[in-house]
This record gives sequence, structure tokens and C-alpha cells, in this order.
Amino acid sequence: MKTGMVTLIRGDGIGPEITDATLEVIEAAGVKINWETVEAGQEAIAEHGTPLPGAVLQSLKKNGIGLKGPLTTPVGSGFRSVNVTLRQELKLFANLRPVKSLPGVNTPFNDLDLVIVRENTEDLYSGVEHMVGEDAAESIKIITRRASERIARFAFDYAIQNGRKKVTAVHKANILKLSDGLFLESTRRVAKDYPQVEFNDVIVDNAAMQLVLNPHQFDLLVAPNLYGDILSDLCAGLIGGLGLTPGINIGEEVSLFEPVHGSAPDIAGKDLANPTAMILSAVFMLRHLGYSSAAERIEKALYGHYEEGKYLTADLGGDTGTGKMAAALAERIAKMD
Ligand code: ATP
Repeated sequence: MKTGMVTLIRGDGIGPEITDATLEVIEAAGVKINWETVEAGQEAIAEHGTPLPGAVLQSLKKNGIGLKGPLTTPVGSGFRSVNVTLRQELKLFANLRPVKSLPGVNTPFNDLDLVIVRENTEDLYSGVEHMVGEDAAESIKIITRRASERIARFAFDYAIQNGRKKVTAVHKANILKLSDGLFLESTRRVAKDYPQVEFNDVIVDNAAMQLVLNPHQFDLLVAPNLYGDILSDLCAGLIGGLGLTPGINIGEEVSLFEPVHGSAPDIAGKDLANPTAMILSAVFMLRHLGYSSAAERIEKALYGHYEEGKYLTADLGGDTGTGKMAAALAERIAKMD
């Protein structure tokens, strides 16, 4: 850690509720984090006239680490997506999305454990978009050799460091022969440097079907930005929904931990959100900071919580509120001591 502080962005919609829940659980695990709270999103538009004040980027660059709730950029507001801007400005080139079944959460597949590594800086998210006359629009998909090789290398290094045996590249190179063709060629080239890891590739539409039919065939999927985004929501569905899947944005200088889901405006402010995805994102953050025993206790508390299956939030068929779930987890952690 660069400064001993961690940047905290509470986020929009359900962000503040799941952030409060997460902070309660971290505190129960006995970790005192020196948070630097900064305003972004809707709150920042009201206060500073922009969803991404300079102070947010400065804080993250200075501290090198952040925990973030979901942020909304209203369509038609004239502002670029805050999430995309953060990833590009901070050069958070890799987005890691672990997909792991929780015991007791019943889904068609109960023992899933795979990881999606999503390229985070280019593809259709490069923001090059314009109208062609009044009745047509054009969005440019940018794929570079540099970013493709960098994400492939990250995926293989991650596989080796975390005991993953197989890397699968996702693409649509049969149609997008140049852009996805370059992504595929780059991952193939990098794969040659890692002969100890099995490598294959799959076309994105087939990947979607295979994930629904037989997800166990996959260990680590590496994908360009858009396919990675879509497939990680699909995978969230396989393990019980968006409320359960954490995410990590990684760059050379900064790591930003955040749930995969958005701000869920439909349930915001109603104490209905499942805080698990944000708590698990914090678990990864604690490990990154070296608080591995606290991270383990929180993870164990979550597993125990779901195994018992008593206090579930609405997304999983229960009627427990966000706050009550956090309190139940905090109590469980306290009892471990
Ligand atoms: P955004 O534009 O910010 O991504 P969205 O509504 O398009 O917002 P999400 O916020 O990810 O996308 O929500 C998709 C669905 O998943 C919504 O019905 C939402 O209520 C649900 N959802 C997302 N996160 C959670 C959560 N933590 N707990 C319960 N339900 C959730």
C-alpha cells in the first residue's frame, strides 16, 4: 500500500447500503482501515457538477487501492460512463471476475469455480462513437496487439499463480477477422510461452451455450471487453445472481475492488440489496492488503451463512434486509473468536 489509506467510493443506488454492510463486516473481522472517502456518481454531479471530480482519480492514484460501490452515469446526461473513465484513466487493464458457487445457494450447478479475465480498456468501450447522418450510428471497436498480449499474459500469469490449469480465449474471429482475429492471434502467441497451461479458444456464441450446458469444462476465460462483460453476467446467473459476484480491476499502479453488478435502481434505498458481491470484493481487497486471516474469517462467515440458509435476501428468495444480513455476518464473525 502506498499511503496506508484506502480510497472508498460508496456509489449510487444500492451502493451506500451495501457499502455500510461491508464496512460493518470488515470492522467485525477486526481490521481498521484508514478510509479516504470520495464522492463520485450522482452525488458528485449534485455537489461538483461532474460525476468524476479530479479528487477521485487523485485519491486512487495516491493510495493505489480502492473499494467502490456501483456508479450510474445517466443516459443522455452528456457524461461519459464513470466506470469506463475510471478504468481508462487509471489504466486498470484487467478485470478479474471470479465465479464461485456458494454452499447452500441452490442453482443448476453447485460446484462451479471459474474465473473470467476481461480486457478492460478498449474494444467497443473505447468511446469512439458518432452518428452518420440522422438515421445511422457508428461505434468503433478497437483491438490492439499490445492490450491483447498484455491481458493474455496477465491471464496466464494469474492461472499459474492460482493453480488454474486451462485458459480459454473467447472471440468472434470467424466474423470479425481483423479485430477479434488480432485478439486471438495475440493470445495464441502468448500461450506458447506457457506450455504448462492448457490453452484453447471458443467463439463467443458457443461459449455462451457451453457455459449454460457444461460450465465445468472451463477454468479461466480470457475475453475482450464486451464479451467479458456479457459472459460474466451470464456466469453470475449460474451461481445465483449478480448479488453474489465480486470483481477486481487491476492496473500497474492501482487496484480497484468492486462488485460486478450495477446500482440496481429498482431496489435502491429499500434495504433489499444483497451485500455479498461487495463483501467478497472487500475480501479480495483485504487479501491484497495482507489481511489474509480477516479475509478468511469473512469468507468462512459467508459460507456458514449460506450453508445455514436462514437469513437470505430477496434475490435468493428470503426476506432478510441488507442491514440484518450484515449484522448476522458480524455476529457470526464475533462468535469465531
Ligand atoms: P446499471 O445501469 O447501474 O448497471 P442495471 O439496473 O442495468 O444498472 P444492475 O444494477 O446490475 O443493472 O441490476 C440488474 C438486476 O439485478 C436488477 O434487477 C437488480 O435489482 C439486480 N441486482 C443487482 N445487484 C443486486 C444486488 N446486490 N442484490 C440484489 N439484486 C441485485
